[in-house]
Amino acid sequence: MPRLVKKFGGTSVADVQRIKAVAARVKRAVDAGHEVAVVVSAMAGATNQLVDYANAVNVLHDSSEHDVVVASGEQVTAGLLAMALQDLGVPARSWLGWQIPIRTDTAHSRARILDIDASDLDRAMHEGTVPVIAGFQGIAADGRVTTLGRGGSDTTAVALAAALKADRCDIYTDVDGVYTSDPRVVSRARKLRQITFEEMLEMASVGAKVLQTRSVELAMNHGVRVQVLSSFEDVPGTMVVSEEEIVEQALVSGVTYSRDEAKITLLRVADKPGVAAGIFGPLAEANINVDMIVQNISAEGDTTDLTFTVAKADLARAVALLEECRSSIGYGNVLSDANVVKVSVIGVGMRSHAGIAAQMFRALADKGINIQVITTSEIKVSVLIDEAYAELAARTLHTTYGLDAA
Ligand code: ADP
Ligand code: ASP
Ligand code: MG
Repeated sequence: MPRLVKKFGGTSVADVQRIKAVAARVKRAVDAGHEVAVVVSAMAGATNQLVDYANAVNVLHDSSEHDVVVASGEQVTAGLLAMALQDLGVPARSWLGWQIPIRTDTAHSRARILDIDASDLDRAMHEGTVPVIAGFQGIAADGRVTTLGRGGSDTTAVALAAALKADRCDIYTDVDGVYTSDPRVVSRARKLRQITFEEMLEMASVGAKVLQTRSVELAMNHGVRVQVLSSFEDVPGTMVVSEEEIVEQALVSGVTYSRDEAKITLLRVADKPGVAAGIFGPLAEANINVDMIVQNISAEGDTTDLTFTVAKADLARAVALLEECRSSIGYGNVLSDANVVKVSVIGVGMRSHAGIAAQMFRALADKGINIQVITTSEIKVSVLIDEAYAELAARTLHTTYGLDAA
């Protein structure tokens, strides 16, 4: 009997009507002879509301209580879906993260799954019960509730698919697959029939929120077959596959952008050993992630300018910290700019083809878009540009690499 994990995102369970529609869809799979476990998100908007409540009490709230609050959205939908399934005559029962348990580390609000004991779920499935699992949540060794970061129900689903040795993990969402670019921004984006794990991982990590990055990592490491598809239409979705399974390989598979970037420049930094460590050490200790970095040689020769990016939410903290460390680092001035966006092109074809980056720079130059920082990986090129050009850049690059739908 094929075993499937099906995950339904926030818009798919946005109200009681939609939860009933999800129940009907699950019943069809059960009737077709599948063993099904279901993972649910909170109703659309619910998690944002819960985060707002926590911030309204105190922006600097206790992170373990934060998770108690924000994990509650998924408890509601898990219970409701189990009831809706029972109403249709399908034996079903809800499970919260701690009841399974899904064990995580203690990094509240961005915890990582360490281990899942799937034996109860496994038994329930053998007995013909559909387990409905609250996504996004787990339990730390100290017994406290944790959450897996925004979009974390995807990761719950893939981790459960691995633990339950499922044949496939279906991620139902409000688009009918993974597109060459966000279809809400680039109207000519095309649906991909397949995408490689590596490309999906890069796309997710540079801003395509259709799958949480960690879920793709897990799928890749555990060989979980993942399909992204619509919960509203019955059309084939996108399969995430290994590179060998790809039938026709495009040079570039996707164009993505992320507004969650802010730029910091340190002027006249002493050009001597240990300076980078002096700057990035304290930032790392303060848990501030640095993404892109460029260092220039300045005209005078003994000092240099250093530019790097951090998440927008970390900008104020990073600047304050650098100002504190000004005399120990030794620099002239610190500048910051939150009006930037990172645009990336991704494709495994880059491994074997030169010139993809040059084509990108030319296309942006032709539109008069200035590039502030560049970074590359084996299958990705990212540039930092003025935020005002985000959509123009994404559309231009989409056309440049021949990705536009006919
Ligand atoms: P869910 O609530 O179901 O988890 P999300 O909002 O997290 O759904 O993710 C789906 C959204 O991801 C889509 O509505 C779409 O706007 C966005 N998205 C961004 N990039 C892409 C892409 N390349 N392909 C498909 N969707 C994308
Ligand atoms: N409800 C959580 C969020 O909005 C988790 C998820 O939907 O995947 O981030
Ligand atoms: Mg999501």
